[in-house]
Amino acid sequence: MKQSPADRKAFENMAPGVLTAAGFLGNDERTLDRIIAEDEEAFLEHGLDFDKVADRLEDLAREGEQGMGEPITIGRLLVQSGEARGMLPCPWGDGLYHKNAVSVRPADIPPEACTEGEDMLIYSELSIHMLRVHHFCQGKGSPFRLDAAVLKQLLDL
Ligand SMILES: [Zn+2]
Repeated sequence: MKQSPADRKAFENMAPGVLTAAGFLGNDERTLDRIIAEDEEAFLEHGLDFDKVADRLEDLAREGEQGMGEPITIGRLLVQSGEARGMLPCPWGDGLYHKNAVSVRPADIPPEACTEGEDMLIYSELSIHMLRVHHFCQGKGSPFRLDAAVLKQLLDL
């Protein structure tokens, strides 16, 4: 797969300190097209659909708002929707998204035993947009990474 100029620009915007302090790539050393291609494969392997995952994450974020910033139980999950603090542009430059943080973890595991990106998910409105539109789940080691295996484990899809 050849990298388009838009992808090249997006990749530059994902570096730490450009749009966010931590950036979007974690400690992943793969190219953007590799990250996306391998996550598309992983979604397929786990029987996940990008649109359905994005819809489910949106539903959980909305339901979680009833907790007014405190974690609430939704099914077998504990969901905490934080307040939005400003807006963030998508690295592809196609929109502005709320800078909120939603965390989703299994209700039966104590919070201190959970590891971000391994048995719990943290995401924002921008994460959902990037997953839905660009099939970008963020790099390995990013606290906001939406890993297919973790999505499969937590979301009943
Ligand atoms: Zn975008």
